[in-house]
Amino acid sequence: MIGTAFVSRRSSLSAGLFERSTRVVPGGVNSPVRAWSAVGGEPVFVGRGQGARIFDEDGRGYLDYVCAWGPLILGHAPRPVVEAVVRAVPEGTGFGAPTAKELELAELVCERIAGIEQLRLVNSGTEATMSAIRLSRGYTGRNKVLKFDGCYHGHVDALLARAGSGVASFSLPDSAGVPESFTGQTLIADFNDVASVRNLVRENHQDLAAVIVEPVCGNMGVIPPEPGFLEALRELTREYGIVLIFDEVITGFRVARGGAQERYGVTPDLTCLGKILGGGLPVGAFGGRREIMSCLAPAGPVYQAGTLSGNPVTVTAGLATLKELAAPEVYRELEEKGRRLEEGLQGVLDQGIRGTVNRVGSMLTLFLGPDRVGAPADARTSDRDRFARFFHGMLARGIYLPPSPFEALFVSLAHGEDDIAATVAAFADWAEEDSRR
Ligand SMILES: *Cc1c(COP(=O)(O)O)cnc(C)c1O
Repeated sequence: MIGTAFVSRRSSLSAGLFERSTRVVPGGVNSPVRAWSAVGGEPVFVGRGQGARIFDEDGRGYLDYVCAWGPLILGHAPRPVVEAVVRAVPEGTGFGAPTAKELELAELVCERIAGIEQLRLVNSGTEATMSAIRLSRGYTGRNKVLKFDGCYHGHVDALLARAGSGVASFSLPDSAGVPESFTGQTLIADFNDVASVRNLVRENHQDLAAVIVEPVCGNMGVIPPEPGFLEALRELTREYGIVLIFDEVITGFRVARGGAQERYGVTPDLTCLGKILGGGLPVGAFGGRREIMSCLAPAGPVYQAGTLSGNPVTVTAGLATLKELAAPEVYRELEEKGRRLEEGLQGVLDQGIRGTVNRVGSMLTLFLGPDRVGAPADARTSDRDRFARFFHGMLARGIYLPPSPFEALFVSLAHGEDDIAATVAAFADWAEEDSRR
């Protein structure tokens, strides 16, 4: 059953705000994942955040594992970022002219991410992937793009497509409003299935501009790449002169200091960044080999632009965040916290609940139902009703999880050992209650 705390909260300020919101905002939210379509109920309106906690408009606190969907690796309102932003704002919030701060951030990213020799800042992850695709097409003079079933790259028309069953050559759009002719240039392969990629690449290599992948799948829950998968993508794309794009919007600065490409030792031609890079403010970036990046206007023929790109306040927040992530110990700490949470949750599952935990560093997903999730198809076998009960049961116990079974939990540096222990205890308590249903 849904906890009583959940039910009583419905008569609250937060609920009134949602009701008002549905009148002026489609579905009441500015991004679909924020609505609780997968779990039922109405979303909590958040008033503020501090450290590992958020507080709703009624002042109720929750331990937060959404962390703004990934950006807040230092937790909410971290002092070094807040202070840097507060110092930056009175200096002016935008010029539409180059600044030294943008240069500083670009140099820092080039130093940290192996595959980036040059980069351009944009305002969202969606813009980054959209621009990386256009650039790949301009650079190669080819039109097709290969993506993976279950990988999300923002709401770019051509990338809003996934295969039905097995490997479909050409796929239909996932969204109304996307012409079939747009996704008709998009091929879909299966994540962690090298043969599916090899076949499509061999058949289409003369028309194939890019292969784009989340090096750790993070948008069907966390699914790590199997050993050899990323290496095989690297070899195949190199052999046929196809641009390999790693979408590191989640994994960049998350799974290692130098992103997934450092963690797995595979360097792509282009990398897309976002989320952590903006320190909680809107941002995106794409970068890569100089030879490819120099095709961008004004250096080359591929047009790409942005009025607010490289915004000084965003760049300040990003720089302050990346400076906090400079030391290797930070990533050891994130790994250790992630490991503790994984082991704790797994320990509860071992008491007789079917499910599994997938984790890479400080991002993890608890899948209820399947014993093993090695591909998005496995994730889709999750028990959605049980997840909805789990979500509301945890919420009633003061733990705020992503409101979908197919999302990653993010552990931040602000999450303490006691917070993680409390989360595991809440899961055990819920599991005990749910077993008596
Ligand atoms: C979040 C995300 C995006 C889109 O970023 P936005 O800033 O929401 O446009 C792209 N790729 C991946 C892997 C993401 O997780």
